[in-house]
Amino acid sequence: MISRMDLRGSLPGDLRDVLPRAELDVEAALAKVRPICEDVRHRGAAAVRELTARFDGVELESTRVPVEELGRALATLDPAVRAALEESIRRARAVHRDQRRTDTTTQVVPGGTVTERWVPVDRVGLYVPGGRAVYPSSVVMNVVPAQEAGVGSLAVTSPAQKDFGGFPHPTILAACALLGVDEVYAVGGAQAVAMFAYGTEECPPATMVTGPGNIWVAAAKRLLKGRIGIDSEAGPTEIAVLADETADPAHVAADLISQAEHDVIAASVLVTTSLELADAVEKELPGQVAATRHSERITEALSGRQSGIVLVSSLDDGLRVVDAYAAEHLEIQTADAAAVAARVRNAGAIFVGPYSPVSLGDYMAGSNHVLPTGGCACHSSGLSVQTFLRGIHVVEYTREALAGAAPHVCVLADAEDLPAHGAAVRARFDWGIPS
Ligand code: NAD
Repeated sequence: MISRMDLRGSLPGDLRDVLPRAELDVEAALAKVRPICEDVRHRGAAAVRELTARFDGVELESTRVPVEELGRALATLDPAVRAALEESIRRARAVHRDQRRTDTTTQVVPGGTVTERWVPVDRVGLYVPGGRAVYPSSVVMNVVPAQEAGVGSLAVTSPAQKDFGGFPHPTILAACALLGVDEVYAVGGAQAVAMFAYGTEECPPATMVTGPGNIWVAAAKRLLKGRIGIDSEAGPTEIAVLADETADPAHVAADLISQAEHDVIAASVLVTTSLELADAVEKELPGQVAATRHSERITEALSGRQSGIVLVSSLDDGLRVVDAYAAEHLEIQTADAAAVAARVRNAGAIFVGPYSPVSLGDYMAGSNHVLPTGGCACHSSGLSVQTFLRGIHVVEYTREALAGAAPHVCVLADAEDLPAHGAAVRARFDWGIPS
């Protein structure tokens, strides 16, 4: 069911080339999403509605969900789901509130200050996936950091669902209502990203679009980046587990399965120093997979080339492997897990010890679950308050402070052969001061 890679000899030079990873051809997807985005750009809401009919099988009268639908969804929400969502929001809010930035002012020289002022983006479009599974949890993970950052205008979009009157799933609508978001669209895929980037008659353009999604969403974000701000490319889910002989194979198997449940191209990778653990996990998987609802999808994900068990000869090697892999989610299930976790350099989020499974982070840890995938965790972060803020440098120098800097400015301007730069300073001193 899951392949095995033995790296107990010496580790190969470029580990990234040999480790299991999905061949996600975002470049090829770009060719398909380009005409979709162009269509939305030129024909606006009519194009979005036609694309929704084509890809989601829903004929929309309007892309915007009426506010009454949100209230209705909240009123009929299962009380247990409501309580869980409220607790998820409470925990996420506590964590994200602590991420707020305060402005800093540095006095560089007497009379010369630089202030970094943190300003939220004006308007964001938040993408909540809804193809194979529905993700009310992603409403929480998108909306809470944007609200805590102080974003003034928030719109959520999620694919239209045939089975729910063409609206997004009612739990998604209820989560929006719980969070006080009343601008919601029944649009998914690349056309949703294009709708936010270009705006339509029914949806004003946004400054930024964030949120996870499938390859079409990721490709549209890559294509329209610049026209609109994006977060990281949060694509198909990944879990890596770094484990030694102290890990419980039943827990490791359950955690690998839990993320394989997202998508047939989701990746589940175990990196271990213990052959016994590898064998035991492999033995656990078929029984646990057979007993779960989405066993077909999970089997395909686990047996795909993106999943596997990697044997290493030491924890040091294991750390090199997980750093090279840069997983979206990394679990550390070893002795002294906190010390091992402290040595990890590349991961979207790290889950430490036997009682911090990724499923906890998906819903209830308080951390964000919109995380970089496909190795992007070596340069990008998950969604946070920071995602929605820009740091603006405010420079304020007095005449005396500028006079002190003027000779250096002029020397550097000359060194760059940009004498007009120096002249702009000298003009303020009647063309005097610098020599
Ligand atoms: P989705 O909402 O991302 O995509 C569904 C949309 O794709 C549809 O509305 C449709 O318009 C469009 N589409 C479908 N087939 C198409 C085609 N052939 N051509 C063009 N467009 C097409 O939902 P999904 O498919 O369930 O994917 C969700 C993804 O998000 C999963 O891979 C899951 O693992 C991932 N995810 C990632 C994170 C993260 O933080 N990285 C979190 C949650 C979910």
